[in-house]
Amino acid sequence: MKTVYNFSAGPAVLPKEVLQEAANEMLDYKGSQMSVMEMSHRSKVYEGILNEAKADLKELLSIPDNYKILFLQGGASTQFAMIPMNLMKNHEADYIVTGQWAKKAAQEGQLYGKANVIASSEDKTFSYIPDLDNLAFSKNADYVYICENNTIYGTKYSTLPDTKGIPLISDISSCFLSEPMDVTKYGMLFGGAQKNIGPAGVTIAIIREDLLGDEVFEGTPTMLRYDTHVKADSLYNTPPAYGIYICGLVFKWIKSQGGLEGMKKMNEEKAGILYDFLDSSHMFKGTARKQDRSLMNVCFITGDEKLDKKFVEEAKEEGFENLKGHRSVGGMRASIYNAMPKEGVEALIKFMKKFEEENL
Ligand code: PMP
Repeated sequence: MKTVYNFSAGPAVLPKEVLQEAANEMLDYKGSQMSVMEMSHRSKVYEGILNEAKADLKELLSIPDNYKILFLQGGASTQFAMIPMNLMKNHEADYIVTGQWAKKAAQEGQLYGKANVIASSEDKTFSYIPDLDNLAFSKNADYVYICENNTIYGTKYSTLPDTKGIPLISDISSCFLSEPMDVTKYGMLFGGAQKNIGPAGVTIAIIREDLLGDEVFEGTPTMLRYDTHVKADSLYNTPPAYGIYICGLVFKWIKSQGGLEGMKKMNEEKAGILYDFLDSSHMFKGTARKQDRSLMNVCFITGDEKLDKKFVEEAKEEGFENLKGHRSVGGMRASIYNAMPKEGVEALIKFMKKFEEENL
């Protein structure tokens, strides 16, 4: 049987060890004679799973005590609305638009107040991160919003904007736990789990306590209020219980691999060899501006759409799955999240070299 490497942008590859452990525990979680899927979310056993997941995430990211960790549902997209509903107290916020996801967040923000687009890279198909040195923040902005890793275009902020004290909110869906980060620089971080953390259905939000309050946009549903979930410790209603369990196993796996420093080292190695190959190739070309390249999503083209299509098809036949770029930009994208082994990237490069020789 040929080895399959899954380069999907999300849902995405998970560590084999985690899937094996989940399989081992599928019918009987630690002697409970129940699957985690079958357990009451109010049971002692499940409470342990949730608390341990939270504690491990706190440890991995060194989350200070004045930040709340919430396990939510509705995907990152629901956060596009929850953020303004809960945090746009002055009905104004600034957005830096570096791709479709940030753009969608800004459009959603506009439903609740003034969502100012203070910088954008749309002029060049979001292939770069705009200049962050001369941003004009709005006087009344409640927050500045960014999407830190742009899944579709393969760009990532290498530095954060200095927001001069305005809380920074960052969508980290596609770079969650890929390297260490300083949580204290943010008012809020959030992301869907389905790329680096676990299965789809779990959204994690990390919010600085002082941003939370009773005052929310009029008519905000109870389920869409952060304080509802803070007060109930992510157990206001039935949480995505099984998904959180898998996230917990992934947190333990990351700890066993040297934590976020270990992830960064591996991710830099993997992305490094792939970008080096792209830079030396006479056929393939990276599409993101060099200084803004993502470690997680590597986007490239041949410059010929027919050849791109041929490449994706032949790659699939060889076991390299999901290399087609996002439908809005075309080309190719290799998502090489934490759980993609280095062998997978090496095998892909070998295949690309062969394709280049045969088709140039
Ligand atoms: N933000 C980013 C950076 C994403 O990559 C995605 C999904 N690919 C989303 C938000 C939307 O996430 P969801 O599908 O969980 O709503």
